[in-house]
Amino acid sequence: MSLPKFEYIAPKTIQEACEILEKLGDEAKVMAGGTDLLIKMKHGAAGPKAVVGLRNIKGLSSIEFDPKSGLYIGAMALLRDVASHPTIQKIYPAVAYAASQTATVQIRNMGTVVGNICNAAPSADNIPPLMALDAELMVVGPKGERRVALKDFFKGPGQTSLKRGELVSAVFVPLPPPNGAVSYKYISQRSKVDIAAVCVAAMVAVDRGRAQKVRIVLGAVAPTPIRAKKAEQLLSGKKLSEQAIKKASRQASQECSPITDMRASAEYRRTMVEVLTARALTEARDLACGKSG
Ligand SMILES: Cc1cc2nc3c(=O)[nH]c(=O)nc-3n(C[C@H](O)[C@H](O)[C@H](O)COP(=O)(O)OP(=O)(O)OC[C@H]3O[C@@H](n4cnc5c(N)ncnc54)[C@H](O)[C@@H]3O)c2cc1C
Repeated sequence: MSLPKFEYIAPKTIQEACEILEKLGDEAKVMAGGTDLLIKMKHGAAGPKAVVGLRNIKGLSSIEFDPKSGLYIGAMALLRDVASHPTIQKIYPAVAYAASQTATVQIRNMGTVVGNICNAAPSADNIPPLMALDAELMVVGPKGERRVALKDFFKGPGQTSLKRGELVSAVFVPLPPPNGAVSYKYISQRSKVDIAAVCVAAMVAVDRGRAQKVRIVLGAVAPTPIRAKKAEQLLSGKKLSEQAIKKASRQASQECSPITDMRASAEYRRTMVEVLTARALTEARDLACGKSG
């Protein structure tokens, strides 16, 4: 299987990239690492006439942390670099872990976290922990820059709210709440050559043993990654006992709409949402309680 013919354009600035994307519309595709895009093109699932590579734009690979505002991951920051970044490992361990569990070493050396997000696969490993931390995307386009909450970015499998001429320049992750922790759990059929059949991130912030803030994000069990909001509400302000976690996890499994495909049946996925949610909530609670003493 070979790649179809296409024009490769390598702008030197974001503005130039946006102008090209605006001019070409659906005929052009942005490329970061190309680990998704080029495979889709080989299989005929994408056929852009032009590919706009971001590699020559300076500054897009940077990862920066500000103790007052949070973490900035540039559009060309590799999965490998996010997984091994000491500050991310320390302050956002679930974000580093999700990057470290994405695909294989070869793909992590080429692929990016932002590419993983923009690909908009419901099963993408990096989205649940970032969404649990209320991450935002920096979107740049012909009309300037805007911030989009990650939870509002996805419109369906492979579909985002990006408009003509726009690209994502970075993902911004606020500081985790004090006494808060995130856990990420996934299950996949054939280890890391396969994508997740179900993935779950849970974030809890605790105050005197009670949940102050809760986020439960489910992947691969709906057309987009989703929050299990009713399950979150069940825990809000409550003690995170085993029983409360069990109840919320069962509720989370009722808030998704899984399908049966070659990776898993809908029934199995729903059951695994309950199991993984309970594991993620328990781990996040224990980590958060460890922080609060
Ligand atoms: C064998 C294999 C195993 C895999 N395993 C996993 C896995 O376990 N977990 C997982 O989550 N994924 C997995 N993937 C998918 C893929 O590798 C990741 O999604 C990767 O992070 C994509 O990053 P990239 O930089 O290569 O994106 P690209 O391929 O460059 O882009 C992906 C999509 O996002 C768009 N895009 C990229 N950057 C931007 C931007 N800045 N602004 C706007 N649009 C943009 C592109 O136009 C394209 O549509 C796997 C892929 C393969 C081939």
